[in-house]
Amino acid sequence: MPPLFRRILSEEFHSAAHLCACGCGQEVRTPLGPTEWAVRADVRGPTRRPSVGNWQLPCKSHYLITNGNVQWSNQWTDKQIHAGRQKEHAKRTAHYEAREPRASWWRLLLGFVHDRLGR
Ligand SMILES: [Zn+2]
Repeated sequence: MPPLFRRILSEEFHSAAHLCACGCGQEVRTPLGPTEWAVRADVRGPTRRPSVGNWQLPCKSHYLITNGNVQWSNQWTDKQIHAGRQKEHAKRTAHYEAREPRASWWRLLLGFVHDRLGR
């Protein structure tokens, strides 16, 4: 990835970190954004949506954080985890495709120029 692109990504895409609620001591990073997690904090404590599923950790804990309190959710099967990841990927793809008509236009132009120069 070109350095400039990496810098822009790191500036635009924020994440939040917390220690896993199960007490295993693992740090959990959740990216924040319109297609990722949202965190709201007030005097009662943070609320994070959607739920946090730590499928990549040995504990595989799954919970909601609401006003600073942990609400435990059921553990997912591998099939549910796979389906959830596919759903998230489709959501992100739809969101960014809807947002970037100019990028698509530029890609077409660059493809055209590339084809012309290549001949
Ligand atoms: Zn844990």
